Amino acid sequence: MAMGREQSDRLFAEALRHIPGGVNSPVRAFRGVGGSPFFARRAHGSRVEDADGNEYIDYVCSWGPNILGHGAKAVVDAVVHAAANGLSFGIPNPGEVDLAAKIRSWVPSVGKVRACNSGTEATMSCVRLARGFTGRDLIVKFEGCYHGHVDSLLVAAGSGALTFGRPDSAGIPARLAELTIVLPFNDPDAVRSVFRDRGREIAAIILEPVPANAGLYLPEPGFLESLREICTAHGTLLIFDEVMTGFRLARGGAQEVYGVTPDLTAFGKVIGGGLPVGAFGGRADIMDHLAPDGPVYQAGTLSGNPLAMAAGLAQMSELEARDGFRALERTGSTLESALRDAARGFEDRLCLKRIGSMFCMYFTGGPVRNLAEAKRSDTAAFGRFFHAMLRRGVYLAPSQFEAGFLSLAHGPLEVEATARAASASLREAL
Ligand SMILES: *Cc1c(COP(=O)(O)O)cnc(C)c1O
Repeated sequence: MAMGREQSDRLFAEALRHIPGGVNSPVRAFRGVGGSPFFARRAHGSRVEDADGNEYIDYVCSWGPNILGHGAKAVVDAVVHAAANGLSFGIPNPGEVDLAAKIRSWVPSVGKVRACNSGTEATMSCVRLARGFTGRDLIVKFEGCYHGHVDSLLVAAGSGALTFGRPDSAGIPARLAELTIVLPFNDPDAVRSVFRDRGREIAAIILEPVPANAGLYLPEPGFLESLREICTAHGTLLIFDEVMTGFRLARGGAQEVYGVTPDLTAFGKVIGGGLPVGAFGGRADIMDHLAPDGPVYQAGTLSGNPLAMAAGLAQMSELEARDGFRALERTGSTLESALRDAARGFEDRLCLKRIGSMFCMYFTGGPVRNLAEAKRSDTAAFGRFFHAMLRRGVYLAPSQFEAGFLSLAHGPLEVEATARAASASLREAL
């Protein structure tokens, strides 16, 4: 491996002159771990190559979407084929119908679904639709759950907002934030108590059923069920943000894994195959409140873009054809035990979380069930670990408060190399 950094450093210096912070999405800037980012020149399968020719095993996978690995042939072929017929029409195209039908066939709670251009748009539209449908203004969300950079949802959010220790963004009117009630995850009593007081004013509860933007932690048994019960009792809509978990955890997303049915679901990431896509769907009687049938306005010049639809469809079909979710679970469980072996002796200072193809190693003894517990992590030790892994050719997300992602291109070879790197890097970092 070359290990030079000259090209990346030169590009970043140049980027800083043109782009705020040198990046088009904050967490890419490495502020959570120190140092400066590398620039990607190309990526294939489980590997990404930087501008200096260094190669890394990639556990970020474009922050989740690339579940088949980088540059999967089926997806690239579908995009090339679609592109030959035109890049955008602004007229209904067959791919939109196919992707909508596919999502409906995978997720039984989705009666109708509309495509948009990002996960942010999907959650934003769900919130507007829930307010329009119920005629109520309040939204309940949970600490550490990230739903994109939507004004009403960028309150005690995860991901980049958390990495920077500034959970609330400037530029969000206090009077708007007041319409968002923030509660701790995995605490059904806190939810019940809020609903006792204000249940009739609450349009929706929105959550990541498996929070994967503050590292990764899981819903405790009964938590999701209790939210379903509370929502049904109060005429409040339950919105699952499955932008991350949709088509990463299972064909039917987290709602299939946990057997809890939301009213609305937001999708993104995997459904775009690496192109900018989002979608939201749910009960048909709610979705019919959207324009042009109903009074809730939502639109997009590039929504349902033929390339994006082709990429998403190809990725979903390939996942299905290759029995992808089973394969990802296998690789995930192998990686988990390899990492546990590598971490032997440090058990009191680490807490490893994994579900399917998502994982996170917190630098705290745990348990980690909510944001407050996640924040006990020794982020300086994580930073040392991150750079030690990077030097050994393994690229993890550059923040303690992000999850790692596997793809179908990750196999035993990658797992073994990663475990070896982790064993040495932990000894350096702790
Ligand atoms: C990534 C993510 C979003 C935002 O999606 P973008 O495409 O980045 O706008 C929303 N919710 C969750 C759970 C996510 O992981």
